[in-house]
Amino acid sequence: MRAQSQNGGDGNMQSKQSANSTEVSVENAGAPVRRPEKKLRAGVLGATGIVGQRLVSLLAGHPWFELTEVAASERSSGKTYAEAVRWHLGAPIPEVARNLVVKGLDPSLDCDFVFSALDSSVAGPAEEDFARAGYPVVSNCRNHRMDPDVPLLIPEVNAAHLDVIPLQQKNRGYDTGFIVTNPNCSTAGLVLVLKPLADAFGLEKIFVVTLQAISGAGYPGVASMDIQGNVVPFISGEEEKMEAEPQKLLGKWDGSRFIDAGIGLSAHCNRVPVIDGHLECVSVGLKKIASLDEVREALRNFEVGAELAALPTALRNPVVVLDDENRPQPRRDVDAGNGMAAVVGRVRECPLLDVKLTLLSHNLVRGAAGAALLNAELLAARGFLKRRVTPSESQLAEPVSR
Ligand code: NAP
Repeated sequence: MRAQSQNGGDGNMQSKQSANSTEVSVENAGAPVRRPEKKLRAGVLGATGIVGQRLVSLLAGHPWFELTEVAASERSSGKTYAEAVRWHLGAPIPEVARNLVVKGLDPSLDCDFVFSALDSSVAGPAEEDFARAGYPVVSNCRNHRMDPDVPLLIPEVNAAHLDVIPLQQKNRGYDTGFIVTNPNCSTAGLVLVLKPLADAFGLEKIFVVTLQAISGAGYPGVASMDIQGNVVPFISGEEEKMEAEPQKLLGKWDGSRFIDAGIGLSAHCNRVPVIDGHLECVSVGLKKIASLDEVREALRNFEVGAELAALPTALRNPVVVLDDENRPQPRRDVDAGNGMAAVVGRVRECPLLDVKLTLLSHNLVRGAAGAALLNAELLAARGFLKRRVTPSESQLAEPVSR
């Protein structure tokens, strides 16, 4: 059997049946990469929200996953997805989703795993219910990000943190279920850019000022009267998240606990009248002296390994460095790398710390739906996602009573 690369070419890849019949092993640049042999069935909790819609859209035509369930609040449940959703994307609602009936948060969905894009007021216990019922939960929400047994994951940064999953399952009495989270939307772009600098030079201090898009607040989000022609210098809880999450992401899993990176970090977060894309002005103090050219090279040369490069949503070079003095700009650069790139510009000397730069990332893609999708792809490649016997299948298997 000859396998197609999920990234387009088939190269010299050879595939073979793995021990688990739902997966094949694909040799890619010398590293074995597993992908599901049969598509895994995905549910989206919070599918009607602004992040949920992105997930629904990204799942349509996904090579490894198929959307089989959508769930949201009582306001939406019982309606078809097309009836329930207030659709915000340019492309129409995918056909696969239009007629799905929106369910509530009962953990009995016909799917192998769920994405969670729920409002944080309900996400915490709902995600636990699903994990307890055996579903892997790939979450966008803040509720479990800092739990000591939950991976806060950016595959390009800390894939090794997935090693905590068996401990999480043991601690919480989960069987096949577990929870994996992705970071806050402004943390996602920041940490992606900090990672190559941490590896090359070490990080001492970070000072960051964000200019965050209104779609980061969900729908309807900030009232138009508050944001039109204005800047709001407060986003509830955001600075705390930006100061805490990078410590876990850039820290280590030592086999029994997460050890923080111990970086000095100060964040100022502002809401600005931009639809999509968080811009961040960052000053960085490095442990090792580096020239500006060395910093640019470290960012440009940041390349993922074969395992990640084989994931459908991954970019080989997730950081894009622009040389124009007036870039990145949200309107022009937010969709770089299908929204999965962190775009950096204005790398220059900082009179207070060592280097300063501006970065941009798509809050709904790299900071939310695309991040969760990439996390799920890595989980699938590592064998953490499997076909489950779903409630409808187990009913079919029950003996007919006489
Ligand atoms: P949103 O547009 O407000 O959507 C919230 C979703 O949660 C909707 O599907 C809503 O369903 C559902 N929901 C609300 N209350 C519920 C309840 N009581 N029971 C069941 N479902 C309920 O928010 P969002 O921007 O998509 O954000 C979703 C999550 O992702 C949040 O936790 C947010 O913090 C996180 N996040 C957002 C971003 C971003 O840039 N927007 C980035 C990273 C992470 P109905 O439509 O039925 O009300």
